[in-house]
Amino acid sequence: MMKKRTRKVAELDDPLCCCEYVNRHGGRSHMAACCCDCEDLDEACDRWMKREPQNPDSLSRMAATVTDRLRVPWISGAKKVDLSLIPPLFLLPVFLHIAALHYLLGIVVLAALPVMVLWYYYFTHRKKGRTLFFLSLALFSLFYMYYVFLTEVVPRGDVTNLQLGVITLGVALTLAALLHTKKGPGYVKPSPADTHSTVTYHSLPPDVDPAYHNGSQHQVVIASRAGPGEQGAEPRAVAGDVTENDSSKRNWCSFCKLVRPPRAGHCRICCTCVLRLDHHCVWINSCVGQANHCSFLLTLLFFLVTSLYGISLVLRSVCPTQSLLTALLYCPDVYGQFSSALCFTCAWYSSIVTGGLLHLLVLQLINISYNVTEREARVALREKTGRSLIWGLIIDTGVYSRGFRANWSEFLTMAANVDPKALKPTDLV
Ligand SMILES: [Zn+2]
Ligand SMILES: [Zn+2]
Repeated sequence: MMKKRTRKVAELDDPLCCCEYVNRHGGRSHMAACCCDCEDLDEACDRWMKREPQNPDSLSRMAATVTDRLRVPWISGAKKVDLSLIPPLFLLPVFLHIAALHYLLGIVVLAALPVMVLWYYYFTHRKKGRTLFFLSLALFSLFYMYYVFLTEVVPRGDVTNLQLGVITLGVALTLAALLHTKKGPGYVKPSPADTHSTVTYHSLPPDVDPAYHNGSQHQVVIASRAGPGEQGAEPRAVAGDVTENDSSKRNWCSFCKLVRPPRAGHCRICCTCVLRLDHHCVWINSCVGQANHCSFLLTLLFFLVTSLYGISLVLRSVCPTQSLLTALLYCPDVYGQFSSALCFTCAWYSSIVTGGLLHLLVLQLINISYNVTEREARVALREKTGRSLIWGLIIDTGVYSRGFRANWSEFLTMAANVDPKALKPTDLV
């Protein structure tokens, strides 16, 4: 039986080399030792040799150890490779190549792909699990579409250098905006002065219904970050003011043990409170909040313009006899040649993605125009407190809206008001 040789990471002065990492038990391990020291494997072998029944947990513990040891060297210590990154890298090209073989296969695959992705989305969303699958799919789709454009469409000779330059610029701008979005949504930081201090609002916190208040100045006592003895403690309010008590209760996050500013929300996937939380976007694997909502919208816009332009160039090349609007639905002889069939299939795939994102963009533009976040719209629908127009497409809570122009100017400038301390750098993925 091999002895466990991991050293506890107490020596902070001794930084990790590029092949070392802190394992799931908090010990220090080396990538080269990936096949050593697995107590669970040793135990399973022992039991197997002694013909004893296996421990039901040992298989899942072994799987956890394997995923913990799957690493790539990195400057500040070996980085864990998330297995959910990998399926899109081979599934997408395989599915698109199958779809390009025959138009019937194309219909089946292109109808099944969104259904499978949506099913996986609801499956992971229900478990509130963090996965890199969607970010990997989004990024790889972008790169793969650009690759097919370069290797299959450009050699056909119908695309000018200027058009290729515009597509390349569009892809670069989308990635730059995405990187900016990934800098973080702006997190709620507990203030050191939170210890039962009294703060004075000179105007009503917007989460509080103004109908309950007559004065323009009132006080709320902010709760301390609960110490070990007062886990789950609720904030205390000024005696006699029931509504303020309700308001601070409503803004109290029992997970982060802090009182959130108005409009902030707790993301159960990121396990943190986010300033002016809009929603958690699985496609970027990050929350969209006060600091990155604007760049999120810009990422969507750059992608959609590039994608629509790319689709039009592809269809003009593979289906020159048809008008752009009909080419996607009827393009004779496109399946006669595999290369043109692949381009056509990719144009269809891009159209499905573009359609989905266009829907998201429209909802976002409406929400911003009414100064409502996705989270507030959901709460208003659930609690029936908002005004629902056009079959729920528009949810107007009426709490923050100050008119179309003021709402947009607030949206465009709100990122600048985020305290730099609230922007902790997030992982690139
Ligand atoms: Zn929280
Ligand atoms: Zn989140």
